[in-house]
Amino acid sequence: MTQNEILFARAQRHIPGGVNSPVRAFGSVGGTPRFFVRGEGPYVWDADGKRYTDYVGSWGPLILGHAHPAVIEAVERAARNGLSFGAPTEAEIDLADLLCEMLPSLAQVRLVSSGTEATMSAIRLARGFTGRNKLVKFEGCYHGHADSLLVKAGSGLLTFGNPSSAGVPAAVANDTLVLPYNDVPALKALFAASGSEIAAIIVEPVAGNMNLVQASPEFIRAMRQLTQQNGALLIYDEVMTGFRVDLHCAQGLHNITPDLTTLGKVIGGGMPLAAFGGRADIMAKMAPLGPVYQAGTLSGNPVAVAAGLATLNEIRKSGFFEDLSSKTRQLTDGFNAIGQELGIPFCAQSVGGMFGVYFAEQLPHSYAEVMQCDRARFNAFFHAMLDAGVYLAPSAFEAGFVSTTHQKSDIQQTLTTTTNILR
Ligand SMILES: *Cc1c(COP(=O)(O)O)cnc(C)c1O
Repeated sequence: MTQNEILFARAQRHIPGGVNSPVRAFGSVGGTPRFFVRGEGPYVWDADGKRYTDYVGSWGPLILGHAHPAVIEAVERAARNGLSFGAPTEAEIDLADLLCEMLPSLAQVRLVSSGTEATMSAIRLARGFTGRNKLVKFEGCYHGHADSLLVKAGSGLLTFGNPSSAGVPAAVANDTLVLPYNDVPALKALFAASGSEIAAIIVEPVAGNMNLVQASPEFIRAMRQLTQQNGALLIYDEVMTGFRVDLHCAQGLHNITPDLTTLGKVIGGGMPLAAFGGRADIMAKMAPLGPVYQAGTLSGNPVAVAAGLATLNEIRKSGFFEDLSSKTRQLTDGFNAIGQELGIPFCAQSVGGMFGVYFAEQLPHSYAEVMQCDRARFNAFFHAMLDAGVYLAPSAFEAGFVSTTHQKSDIQQTLTTTTNILR
């Protein structure tokens, strides 16, 4: 048995499925998950000492690559002063100031510890602010694992949601309305029928949890207009896209001012840190100022805040996103060229430092289209790449990530490997 196999067998004894988050178990692609020992720049090493070029980056946070010296130094310095106080610190103010400066839609922001907490709290706030219960989400978008978000489309015309997990009460799911992504007529029909009951739309402005799917300009405009006309809020869930697709996030690319925004992943630089924020009149409803309750023992944790500040300071350096985007494009342009050269249904696209690769003739625009991609072919490709030392997300339904430490030579090597495997 390999070390990875030995560890996976051991992990399953006291951890359900051997993992602390389900996709890690390789359920969708089969085989044994790799147990990582170390990461440096674009590379990770597993328990058997094998090196991989990493295109997962801890599912998005590691935009500076693994163990970036500036981040590690900031974390070490903060840790030496104590790990947690459960009381205010100056660094929290610095991070809140920086987030509000970098993202003009944020008048105020609250720090939490996970993306799930950020979206759950933003939804409670939207409901508390509007006095309405209904929430609109889109098929294939993931917003963390709070009850009201673990909901899939039901059958029937006006899609009352069904729980997508056991343990979620139908009564909770009933208040979540699920529509297809990029479907403007469906969105208009829903608002025409129930606009006055809707508290908010929550959306992944570039969807990254059903592989990568881009929102159309019409869809973006419709979400903003319909919420405004109906007294509902627009929540941009930028936990994945925030400071990953652009210095001004997806809302900057879309030229949209959402009412609320959720952030996570990159803003913690690999530490447990997330945030939600937005309009001043809405944020004023948060406790201790207002009636919407939310709290956290480790919220604004000084070590996590130090990692976040150090990461954002690197991102702000001039040319950062040009470099990251051009490297990511090198990868996706290369994938597209391979698909054409070999005459196979294989294509790709990127937004900033985030990419999608599909075993399909064309880029998908919805969950239904993503589901039509060739999953068996992806799984075989995934394992061949893994054997060749390239670590892709272990599922056909996840976006990929490039860091600034990936060199053009790393990406060229990945493309050569891809050609050899798909030929
Ligand atoms: C990852 C993610 C979340 C959940 O964040 P966690 O930190 O895993 O709880 C929420 N929304 C989006 C868009 C995400 O990608």
